[in-house]
Amino acid sequence: MSMKRRLVIVGNGMAGARLVEEIVARGGGHRHDVTVFGEEPVGNYNRILLSSVLARTHDPKDIFLNPLPWYATNGVKLHAGVRVEAIDTARKEVTGADGTVERYDSLVIATGSRPVIPPIDGVLHGPASARARKRDASFKRGVFVFRTLADCDRMLAFVNRVRRAAGHRRRPPRARSGAGLLNAGLDVHVVHLMSYLMETQLDAQAAACSSGSWSRWACTSTSRRQRRRFLATIR
Ligand SMILES: Cc1cc2nc3c(=O)[nH]c(=O)nc-3n(C[C@H](O)[C@H](O)[C@H](O)COP(=O)(O)OP(=O)(O)OC[C@H]3O[C@@H](n4cnc5c(N)ncnc54)[C@H](O)[C@@H]3O)c2cc1C
Repeated sequence: MSMKRRLVIVGNGMAGARLVEEIVARGGGHRHDVTVFGEEPVGNYNRILLSSVLARTHDPKDIFLNPLPWYATNGVKLHAGVRVEAIDTARKEVTGADGTVERYDSLVIATGSRPVIPPIDGVLHGPASARARKRDASFKRGVFVFRTLADCDRMLAFVNRVRRAAGHRRRPPRARSGAGLLNAGLDVHVVHLMSYLMETQLDAQAAACSSGSWSRWACTSTSRRQRRRFLATIR
């Protein structure tokens, strides 16, 4: 019987995968049996570069940090495409959506965050209740969140069929995502609650200096009502 400790990591995103890389690099595989659950059915990729995939300046295969074979080569057991549904801390085991059960001595939860779905009418099938927005929402045709490679694929498959795109952002606009949609020949609008972009990073003056690079698509909106009206127009 193996005397190694069992380490289970839930989440194969940037943090979880970096931890695994570090353990492997430091020879931790001699002391631990490492098991990773990742909801996404792929290896680990640089999520920050998704914007470049959308902009078509990077091919999806170029953004992989550790493709699937890396895990086996480095003695790491990966359950790719398996979402962890339950953790039993008394029995020290996790259960995946496919029924896989793994026992652990140490458990790391590195599940990142979920996209925020703003309270805008008409983007979801059914009421846009806070609860519905937090769960895996069912979006109307042409409405996407942007967090995974699969989201990126869905958007790229759709852009050839439309002329206009509106993006809602709470965080800084990612120039290359807008550029990607512009590259596809779309008329791109960014709907933003505040009076200028990147308000948590910049003051108004600094934002004005950077606005040149956004001017091909930026549209700011200062109220929720305006934002709703704007999205209604775009639709
Ligand atoms: C398009 C885009 C551009 C970005 N650009 C920048 C940038 O320029 N600069 C910057 O600093 N940050 C940027 N970010 C943010 C950055 O990507 C995140 O901060 C970072 O990915 C967080 O790492 P994480 O491992 O905590 O979460 P994630 O990378 O989100 O990984 C979490 C993983 O856990 C998986 N998971 C969740 N729940 C479960 C479960 N129950 N079972 C199994 N697996 C599960 C998810 O599927 C996901 O693969 C960007 C994000 C996006 C989406």
